[in-house]
This record gives sequence, C-alpha cells and structure tokens, in this order.
Amino acid sequence: MLYFIYNRKWCNVIELKDIKKTYKSKKGLPTEALKGVNIKFGDKGLCFVLGKSGSGKSTLLNILGGLDNYTSGDIIINGKSTKNFTETDWDAYRNTYIGFIFQEFNLLDNYTVEDNIKLSLELQGKKCSEEEVKQALRMVELDDVLKRKPNELSGGQKQRIAIARALINNPKIILADEPTGNLDEDNEKMIFQILKDLSKEGKCVIVVSHSNEVKSYADKIIKIANGKLVK
Ligand code: ADP
Ligand code: MG
Repeated sequence: MLYFIYNRKWCNVIELKDIKKTYKSKKGLPTEALKGVNIKFGDKGLCFVLGKSGSGKSTLLNILGGLDNYTSGDIIINGKSTKNFTETDWDAYRNTYIGFIFQEFNLLDNYTVEDNIKLSLELQGKKCSEEEVKQALRMVELDDVLKRKPNELSGGQKQRIAIARALINNPKIILADEPTGNLDEDNEKMIFQILKDLSKEGKCVIVVSHSNEVKSYADKIIKIANGKLVK
C-alpha cells in the first residue's frame, strides 16, 4: 500500500477514535493503560500531555508514533484508517511522518554527533550529506559539534542533538516523551523554545511533560488520568 510515500501533500490530521491499550503479561492481571481515548491533532502547534506517573502518557505517545500497537479502536491518519495497516505501512509512517525524542536522549556514545544523526537515516536505507546534518544542527543552534561525541557534551546539548536527529527526516509530527526530565531549568527553556519554534514552522509537536512552565509555551494542553482524557 505504501500510502505515505506516494501521498505526501496532505495536511497531517491524526485522529484517535476510542483507542484502548491493554498490556498482557504472562503472569498476573492485564493492565488497561488506555481506556478509550478520543482526540484529534491538527497540522501544527504545540500540545502538552500532562498526567501523573502511570496514567498512560507514554503509552499514548508510543501508539501515536506507531512504536506500539493499539488493542482496539482506530487511528485515522489524514482520513485513512490504520486498522488494516501492515508492518510496511507502519514503517513508512514512522519513517516519513514521525520524529521521536526521548528523555534519555538515546544517543550512541561511540559515534560522533554527525554519525549519530546519519545513522538514523541509514537504518532506513537513506543517506544524507554533511551539509544536511549541519542544517539540522543549525536549527537547534548547535553547528560546532559535528565531530564530537555525545559524552563530551552537556545534557542540554545532547537533547538538542536528539532533536536534530529527529528533524533530519523532515517529520510532520514530533513526539517528545519528557524531553526535559533530565535537564535543568535553563536547558528546559531552551528545548521548549526550540519545540515552540518548530511548531510555528508547520510541525505538529506533542510533548509529555511534568514541568510547571508548559503554560507559557502551549497552544493546547491535554490531561490524562487513569488511561482516560480529562477536561
Ligand atoms: P506514564 O507514561 O503516564 O507514566 P505509561 O503509559 O508508561 O504511563 O503506563 C501506563 C500503565 O501501563 C502503567 O500502569 C504501566 O505500569 C503500564 N505499562 C506500561 N508499559 C507496560 C508494558 N510494556 N507492559 C505492561 N504494563 C505496562
Ligand atoms: Mg511515561
């Protein structure tokens, strides 16, 4: 089907319809992490997802990013149901639509910044030039670290590199799971400002966070408790 590769002109609206997620373990009771979530995300803007630990925030983000399967319900991507998506369709969706940013940065310490960024594309069978890597780094205001290794950099710099790595794909949707959880206040502000700028430039940015600062950056805030959205 490879719908995503052939049809790249759409506006990116994602709609979750009654999404439920149950984790089944071999022993013990199953966990209902999402209990019927209905929500629509638009073209651009910065949306924060708030909620207590264990409320289902990461589950929601992983399902949105195609990193995990939903148990029931449907995700409609630009009018198209994902119920019959094959693994190839999900791959294409992840590779062309989604940029994911994690709390722990997930950079490889033995590789330079340049190689970390290039590797994420090479895993998809794509290549990019040094100039394209520099361009992505400029977007996070870091263009002098190309040949350095992550362990020579601060936490804030590492997270900006992780953002650059997410941007190299030119994703339409950026998902960030507690991206400032390991950072101090100043670095947090910088990361939020970068995400805000990206959201103004046409990216749909969705961020899970516990920060008290989210109100000053958010276009939209959603709250989740016990696997359900609350007003
Ligand atoms: P949050 O990110 O809001 O802290 P999560 O989405 O990680 O919450 O988790 C929601 C619920 O699902 C929790 O009860 C958690 O223990 C459970 N859960 C999350 N991931 C798994 C998993 N892989 N297997 C079993 N249970 C899980
Ligand atoms: Mg979480």
